[in-house]
Amino acid sequence: MLIRRQMLGVAAALIAFSIVGPHAAQAQDRLKVLATFSILGDFVIAVGGNRVDVTSLVGPNSDAHVYSPAPADARKVADAKVVVTNGLGFEGWMGRLVRASGTKAKVIETTSGIATRKLADGHADPHAWQSAEHGKIYVANIRDALVATDPPGRADYKSNAAAYLAKLDALDRELKAAVASIPAERRRIISSHDAFGYLQQAYCIEFIAPQGLSTESEASARDVARIITQIKREKIPAVVLENISDPRLLERIAKETGARLGGKLYSDALTDRNGDAPSYIDMMRHNMRQIVAALRG
Ligand code: ZN
Repeated sequence: MLIRRQMLGVAAALIAFSIVGPHAAQAQDRLKVLATFSILGDFVIAVGGNRVDVTSLVGPNSDAHVYSPAPADARKVADAKVVVTNGLGFEGWMGRLVRASGTKAKVIETTSGIATRKLADGHADPHAWQSAEHGKIYVANIRDALVATDPPGRADYKSNAAAYLAKLDALDRELKAAVASIPAERRRIISSHDAFGYLQQAYCIEFIAPQGLSTESEASARDVARIITQIKREKIPAVVLENISDPRLLERIAKETGARLGGKLYSDALTDRNGDAPSYIDMMRHNMRQIVAALRG
């Protein structure tokens, strides 16, 4: 009985080895890629597939603008063979982290080659991924960096990228078709987000900043009165305002202006797997659905 049990144990160990062993070895051989935030991490997974081991420094539902790196992050940067950043000042903390880590990784800026739009303060708007056309440039830059760092994976990276680029083409057509269903004069929305400039450019939906409302603080009743005046004066059909968490204030806007209230939009981070935007394609689709639903007459 004892022997039999031991034999079973050995057999189980062998089975476990045959299941875990090769995969564990493969995981070790995978190209370590560090992405600064979740959207870039999703692009790297799409292009790298099984050949890469991807970590996103700033994970889902987290804001990369205000991220402050932990000591463990320097280790992650040091261990990476490729470091994928957005650039355009989006991750202001990254340059220092790369220097401090002493990494030998290839560090790329995925916005390289994108015609950037300027913000009111003269800086380039970093949220370039908010257009699927630009998403394709991000993906091409990632593909080229992976091929350069891991030449034996060239065919895999190229075919993965080609398949994903075709999905982004389809996404772009889908988003444009969704906008086309809205009369041109209704494509205007008040939003406290400053992240949708490229979405506006690519899909011809005008995002209008609420006058006198800070993006950092909760709106007061007085702010809301001002927004109501603005909506009426400019005849704006919809509102997406995330720094108004008081439902009574939102209801007041809807009631007094007739404007539709849009649902949550995702700009700078994906959600976790159970959320509305676990991937880039999901995020773009979700946002457009919310916008179209709010603007439809
Ligand atoms: Zn942002």
